[in-house]
Amino acid sequence: MTVVQKRLHQLRTAVKTAEAFAAKHPRSLTVAVVGALSCFAVTAFGIAPLAPDAAELPRRTVVETLPAPDIAAQLDELANQAIGLTRAEATRSSDTPDSLLRRAGAFDPAAAAFLRTDPLGRRVLQGRAGKMVHVTADASGQVQKMVVRFPAEKAEQQQSHFTRLTIERSGERFAARTEAVPFQTQVRLGSGSIRTSLFAATDDANIPDAIASQMADMFSGDIDFHRELRKGDRFSIVYEALTADGEPVTWDGGTGRLLAGEFTNNGRTYSAVWFKDATSGKGSFYGFDGQSKRRAFLASPMEFSRITSGFAMRFHPILNTWRQHNGVDYGAPTGTAVRSVGDGVVEVAGWQNGFGNVVQVRHSGDRSTVYAHLSKIDVKKGQRIEQGQRVGAVGMTGWATGPHLHFEFRVGGRHMDPRVIARASEAITLPATAKAQFQQVVASVKTQLAVAETMDGVSAAE
Ligand SMILES: [Zn+2]
Repeated sequence: MTVVQKRLHQLRTAVKTAEAFAAKHPRSLTVAVVGALSCFAVTAFGIAPLAPDAAELPRRTVVETLPAPDIAAQLDELANQAIGLTRAEATRSSDTPDSLLRRAGAFDPAAAAFLRTDPLGRRVLQGRAGKMVHVTADASGQVQKMVVRFPAEKAEQQQSHFTRLTIERSGERFAARTEAVPFQTQVRLGSGSIRTSLFAATDDANIPDAIASQMADMFSGDIDFHRELRKGDRFSIVYEALTADGEPVTWDGGTGRLLAGEFTNNGRTYSAVWFKDATSGKGSFYGFDGQSKRRAFLASPMEFSRITSGFAMRFHPILNTWRQHNGVDYGAPTGTAVRSVGDGVVEVAGWQNGFGNVVQVRHSGDRSTVYAHLSKIDVKKGQRIEQGQRVGAVGMTGWATGPHLHFEFRVGGRHMDPRVIARASEAITLPATAKAQFQQVVASVKTQLAVAETMDGVSAAE
């Protein structure tokens, strides 16, 4: 048996133990236990080699491993503690304080009154439905404690923290308090294959949109996702998911970060892993060969998103070649952000016949790029801009029959195929001193990606 097979075998054994347990214990408890086990497959591998240098990641990865042999004992202990104490219920839009408490197994008019009248207590049922409310009640149904989680109050904390609201009984009264608590992160694996669109594939694999966009960005120097995605392309990824006190974060903005991935496009496989070089202290995405993913030019002048992806696959094939008219056309809705593919200085920002609203950027080495038919221009002539910076928005000004971006790449005034330029542009190589550590990280990530691939049941069967 390989290491991977052995781990999968351990996991199956653990799940069987849990199923036997589930038959004997209350449903609410079972959900928690089986939920914990589904994380086991992932956390067992961990990403330990990434940890020592992960300081530049916005969030550190906290990996807890459930040792398989102790599971039966742990389940019994959990059962002894949990019976009749705490229950979690999701709020519904039709809920009153009484109906929520009743579903949570509590009958407590004083607690219901507190949820109606106290400014903090009222927040439990305010806003969106679907919040998980944890209610701890004693044997008579009297509420002892309630806990609910929200997005952080301060905008600058919303990527790193959540708000925990705690309501506690003391005697005949209740007291409520809120605190800002850091998210925890869980490492998750995902994989899929493209049948209709990238987002359809990531939806099938339960991968959040923000991670799908990060994946498109991670490979943006290798693949133009707007134009080069093919049916049958495959991917496997390792990413962080944020949890708030162990619960998945359900609100917008609570998204983790992509850690590594492999993408096979049109028969060619690209790889990338987040790595921070201990000597330079700088973190960035690298291919498994040690070549930085950061290139002088991006492959696409638009960020790949759910909106633009819908246009990518049904674009007219005749316009799909730059030779037709010295440029590349990207179909996209009016207003889609257009970004500079490289660092440079704005040379033209204004109206030109045919091009309509157009921006031209001069880059190093006598190279320049052109962005035409814009509905809006966001830069000024002479302005210095960075790679990825917004220069305007897609439109249909000038000679355009529908909203699209006309994009050109010129070297010494001559038109070139942008995709060829993006790939040929200089890449940064990892320093020799970091090679050994990098190889360790890559080896660990390859194991994770191999597991991710086995989890993709649908495409494996194809
Ligand atoms: Zn064009």
